[in-house]
Order: sequence, then structure tokens, then C-alpha cells
Amino acid sequence: MSTIVEEKTKEAVMNGVAKNGKVGAQLPPLNANGADNPQSKYRAFPPVPLPDRQWPDKQIAQAPLWCSVDLRDGNQALAIPMSVEEKLEMFDLLMGIGFKEIEIGFPSASQIEFDFCRRLIEENRIPADVTVQVLVQAREELIRRSFEALQGAQRAVVHLYNSTNPAQRRIVFGLSRDEIKAIAVRGAALVRQLADENPQTQWVFQYSPESFVLTELDYSLEVCEAVADAWRATPQNRIVLNLPTTVESSTPNIHADQIEWFCRHLKERERAIISLHTHNDRGTGVAATELALMAGAQRVEGTLFGNGERTGNLDIVTVALNLLTQGVEPNLDFSDLPRIREVYERCTRMAVTPRHPARCRGRIPCLCHEQQHSHQRLSSCPGRGCWS
Ligand SMILES: [Zn+2]
Repeated sequence: MSTIVEEKTKEAVMNGVAKNGKVGAQLPPLNANGADNPQSKYRAFPPVPLPDRQWPDKQIAQAPLWCSVDLRDGNQALAIPMSVEEKLEMFDLLMGIGFKEIEIGFPSASQIEFDFCRRLIEENRIPADVTVQVLVQAREELIRRSFEALQGAQRAVVHLYNSTNPAQRRIVFGLSRDEIKAIAVRGAALVRQLADENPQTQWVFQYSPESFVLTELDYSLEVCEAVADAWRATPQNRIVLNLPTTVESSTPNIHADQIEWFCRHLKERERAIISLHTHNDRGTGVAATELALMAGAQRVEGTLFGNGERTGNLDIVTVALNLLTQGVEPNLDFSDLPRIREVYERCTRMAVTPRHPARCRGRIPCLCHEQQHSHQRLSSCPGRGCWS
């Protein structure tokens, strides 16, 4: 194991909460002996000190705001990225499903993504009720390029991010907490300035402390509040604070605790929409999102069928159909899943597994009805989500 990997492993468990409840505290070092013993390599993710957590008693009573990242996270994970024509078809598919916010890429990072953004705007392909979102690192030249890409958009989300977790602060950047916070605030101030200079577009600001789940909670909070101040966020002019599980590292209950802790400690809570962006490294991306919605999050970023890097992003199809079968209108239309799957598989060259929850959704309730009730009842089963 290289020194950097060892350092990252140590840092990964230092999410900033020790048994004494002190936020930002450090765990004792790992034992260097017994390399084959998992206890010497890995340590359980530390719990969040939140003994009066409220989320276990909550229910999800309404759908979150949804943001598709199929054209960004989803696309960048593909062995063969989508062509512009395939991206346009995917964009239309996402709008047809009912997404009102769609992250279309990282236009400052590649000419193809810049051109795609320009094409959507210049060909008037974005309806008034749909907002495109672009991702940008907190670096001046990339921020300026992103605003160039968005010239003429009616409404756009500028999604700013920088790395905040301890391993990246020390190993990648070699910068202190204050210096990393300054990168975020400088980036936010430039975004604010460029937005003020381009008032023809209705701007929405979004900030992500990258690797939120591996960052000390109090530090994530400090950076997010500083960014919110730089953007002059108010309850009337809310910003989005996106708290990503860049790499899923804990059980879903700990993610929910992190979100509840953040929501309860955020000053002027009403000036921010709390957004989730889970990945599926431990296979629990859907559970992490659902528990975090119970914990107070209001917005969800994800992809169709969980496409995305490594084991994938959150699968929005499953979360939406889970809401539906709990009696909550998801505000996304998956009634024609065979067609959605066909377009998705053709554009991404990914296959939806036969065991995907959506593929037999609708059949299991039908069988239950069949066993317990008459065929009359069966015929009234909505069956939304059946493939065939
Ligand atoms: Zn992601």
C-alpha cells in the first residue's frame, strides 16, 4: 500500500466525529501490525453525535426536487461517452419524464460539453420551466468559461464545488482549512459578480463541498455558510447546498445523521435547499437517499437506473417508484418504462439488469392482490413500471 493510500485510508475514517462527541476530533492511529486482519486495515465509520436524532420517526410525505445528472456524472462514467445527438435525445427523454433541473455537463472542461450547452441555448431547446445546470470547479478561468457557455440562457444553475475533505486538503492541495475555505469564497464571489453582470439570465447558485461525507461536519458547515454569505442568500433568494456522498463510506443511517446534523446547525436554514448526491459504492445509495430525505433534505441528484462512476450514482427510477408505492406522487412519469429503458440503453450502451427493481415493479403487488383478492382487484392494480 502506498503512502498516499495509507494516508487516505486514515483520513477516510477521520470524518471528524470522535466518541467523545467532539466534532473535528481525530481517531487514534491504525495499528501497523497484522496486515491481513481487516481490523488493522479498516475501521468502522465513526458515528455522528446526535443522540436526539429525529429522522427515524419521520416519513417521506412529498417528492423531493429532482435533478438529473445523467448528462454529467452518468456520461463521464461511460466507456464511450454519448455523442451530441445521443445527448440531445437523452435530454428530451429526461424532460419527458418530468425533470425540471438537468445538469448538462462541465462546459468549461471540454469543448464538446461547451458546444452542447451552446446548442441547447441557441436552438431554444430548453423550455421555460426547465433549468439547465453546469458544474464548475472554484477556479477563475473555469468560472468565466462557464458563464460564456450559459450566455443567453433564461435560467441556469451554476454548480460550484471544491474539495474540502482532510486528505485532499493536506495531500492534494497542501492547504489549511482557512485556505481551502478561501478558494470556495473567492469562487462564489466571482460567480456572484458575473451573475450580476449578466442580469438577463435568472441565476441559481449551487455549492458542493466535494466529499462532504468524508469532511468534518463543522468544517463543511463553516464553508457552506461562508459561500452562502458570499452569494447573499436569503429565504427569498435561496441557494442549493449539495452535500455529496462522493464515495459512499458509511451505513445509510450515518449519512442521515450527517444530513440532520447539518440541517439543524445551519444558520438561516431557510435560505438553503439541502440537496443529496449519493453514490452506490456500498450498494446502499437508494437507502442513504431515502433516510437522508427523512433527515430533512429537499432535493435529490441522480441518474436513470443508477448509471455513474464506479458502482454508480443514485438510481432515481427506484427512489421515485418507491415513493409511488408508498402513496407519494413522485412528480416523475415512469409509466412507459420500456421506452425509457430502450432510449437509455441505446444512448448509454449500458444494459439494465433483469433483476433491477424497476423491471418487476408492479408485478409483485399484482401477485399479492391475486393471492388475496379477486381478479377484479388485480385489474385495478396500477402496475406502473411493468416492462411488458
Ligand atoms: Zn457524483
